[in-house]
Amino acid sequence: MTGITRALLLTFDDRHLREWAAAAPLLRRYGSRVTFFVCEPDRLDREDRRLLHRLADDGHTIGCHGLRHERAPDFIAAHGPAAYLRQEVLPALEELRRLGFAARTFAYPCSARDDTTDRLLLGLFERLRGGVPADRRADPSLADELHVPAAEVAGRRVLPGCSVDSGRGPLVYGGDLSGVEAAVRRSAEDGGVSTLYAHCVADAHEANHVTPARLERLLALADELSLPCAGFDELP
Ligand SMILES: [Zn+2]
Repeated sequence: MTGITRALLLTFDDRHLREWAAAAPLLRRYGSRVTFFVCEPDRLDREDRRLLHRLADDGHTIGCHGLRHERAPDFIAAHGPAAYLRQEVLPALEELRRLGFAARTFAYPCSARDDTTDRLLLGLFERLRGGVPADRRADPSLADELHVPAAEVAGRRVLPGCSVDSGRGPLVYGGDLSGVEAAVRRSAEDGGVSTLYAHCVADAHEANHVTPARLERLLALADELSLPCAGFDELP
């Protein structure tokens, strides 16, 4: 078995190629690799596609985040599992593969998932990213949920993530990340992985976003703890 079992897994969702590319030098400076989960891959323009290839060339993982960002359990309840795969998942996966990305992993839009969706998607992907409620991020006991012990990393196919976004539009989210930091420290001390997610990288944006300053704070914390930042494709 090869692969990284001690890491911070930073992930970024949706389709913010310009802003992600602008953050690439910061990631490079810390020697960090991350995962970008892309939705609406058919709506990437030529420049977006070029930037996505550059992110992949930097060693980042490119994963799938659905064609139209549908919430999996709701879509399946309304239209059934076959329609979910046919309309929402397979076209996104095929488009990413057509663009040259293996897209071996999937992040649930809005972290909405259940056992049925996991079973369905694990037929197509090696690993899925779910989520824990964002309001837990200030709770130090979050580490119990977020941290996956090293011995379990290879077998764990659904990784819970916690939001580290700074805000959305005029909304500013709480700056207390002590739960997140506790999980990162546990990975550094005991091994294992902790997964975080954000969306755009910007000081201000109408969509969910993490500020470059907060992103750097997380990268610096991992660096201080000698904890590598890795992409999903680097896991065993
Ligand atoms: Zn999303």
